[in-house]
Amino acid sequence: MDYKSTRNNEVKVVSAQAIAQGISEDGGLFVPESIPSITKDDIVKLGDMSYRDRAFFVFSKILTDYTEAEIGYCVDGAYNTKNFDTDNIAELAHLFDGTYMLELWHGPTCAFKDMALQILPYLLTTATKKLGVDKKVVILVATSGDTGKAALEGFKDVEGTEILVFYPQDGVSAMQKKQMTTQDGANVGVCAIKGNFDDAQNGVKAIFTNADIAKTLSDNGMMFSSANSINWGRLAPQIIYYVSTYAQLVKDGEIALGDKINVVVPTGNFGNILAAYYAKHMGIPVNKLICASNANNVLTDFIKTGIYDRNRPFHTTISPSMDILISSNLERLLYHLTDGNDAQIREWFGKLASEGRYEISDSVKKALADEFYAGCCDDEQTKACIKEIYDQYSYTCDTHTAVAVKVYQDYKAATGDETKTVIASTASPYKFSGSVLSALGENTEADEFSLVEKLAEVSKIPVPASLAALRDKAVRFDKTVDKTEMKDYVFSVLGC
Ligand SMILES: *Cc1c(COP(=O)(O)O)cnc(C)c1O
Repeated sequence: MDYKSTRNNEVKVVSAQAIAQGISEDGGLFVPESIPSITKDDIVKLGDMSYRDRAFFVFSKILTDYTEAEIGYCVDGAYNTKNFDTDNIAELAHLFDGTYMLELWHGPTCAFKDMALQILPYLLTTATKKLGVDKKVVILVATSGDTGKAALEGFKDVEGTEILVFYPQDGVSAMQKKQMTTQDGANVGVCAIKGNFDDAQNGVKAIFTNADIAKTLSDNGMMFSSANSINWGRLAPQIIYYVSTYAQLVKDGEIALGDKINVVVPTGNFGNILAAYYAKHMGIPVNKLICASNANNVLTDFIKTGIYDRNRPFHTTISPSMDILISSNLERLLYHLTDGNDAQIREWFGKLASEGRYEISDSVKKALADEFYAGCCDDEQTKACIKEIYDQYSYTCDTHTAVAVKVYQDYKAATGDETKTVIASTASPYKFSGSVLSALGENTEADEFSLVEKLAEVSKIPVPASLAALRDKAVRFDKTVDKTEMKDYVFSVLGC
């Protein structure tokens, strides 16, 4: 099975190439040319398997140029109890009748990004070996907090790679900052920039697409790749947990084989919810895909009206990993919804770049509305939801997950839909202790690790060992640069 560029149907590569390259040279994203299927019999068989075996099964369908031995090596290296605090890898908690929290934060950095970024280094280094690439791969990351740390943990000390992370100096939580600035590993670099996430992202993209920089790198035996969710190697692993969850619900007798479920996802770059879309089109029965946003509600408006308009204020919220106005992975969805109309995608995304706005056709609007529902809430509503869930169900959720719960409650009230529902729980509450405690009415005037202790008392959730260990770790990276100096930082670290 080959992968095409969303902006040029002539471009066709194998999955290893798509993963090594990260993004197509024409600026398009790699998408599978057809979506493989999973049968009802497969779902029954998957029910009796471990997460590793389920991952092996799904990867075998979508990374068809990887051998069984290669996929086995990647899966075993990533999804084990050395990296995750549960052998189930993802946990499914019952919230209330017919509603399940899919906890995707049991990995080393306590956010769902680990589900993909623990395995991406294996997929990527396997890809370069297969392709005979002998260059060192330099991973550049722009992060609003969670991707940076998860990518650092995944790539630290991985032979043949170097990883450099840029984060907005005031755009991440205290815990996220501590996680990144204390990172160990001989091949890592972390740098704050004076600006917001969009500035970091634009700076990284400018470095990526600069031919002179690429030449300098190449002359020095290096090449760039991406660990952001524009890389297919980030999306493919995320399909697994939706397939796995469905098989588990059937096995546990919570649903009958063939019953539909709703999936609710707190959304930023549209990667996680797009993975659920792929799982659906592979054969997992899904009723509605529910897209939840915070005050940066560009996707809510888009799904409701068919108009994407990023010309609006950027809000800094208590769910910072969703503070984003350009959702990259929407391009993949629109490519599929237009039956692979690359000319149409070029037109719309050209308009997005030049005017910050585009409007899709009526038929695509309808296709979108058939599959997706969208809603949003502000910080006050998010906090009220954290409190309500805590009071009613003794469950403490993080700020991002709370956005999803709130939007789901609104959806249920508006539609009366009783379909059983899986809510993606994307981060441990300990990454946002201050905001969560404040939502619960607690005093938050204390240092970060005292807040962690307080949250442990209140939530009764054990403090993740990886976060507790940060308290005594020395800061290794304290550099802040202007957004115009990012290239100089990259060259100085790489020694070119
Ligand atoms: C990245 C992130 C999101 C948004 O996920 P996308 O795939 O970018 O839509 C939501 N919640 C948390 C905690 C995250 O780290």
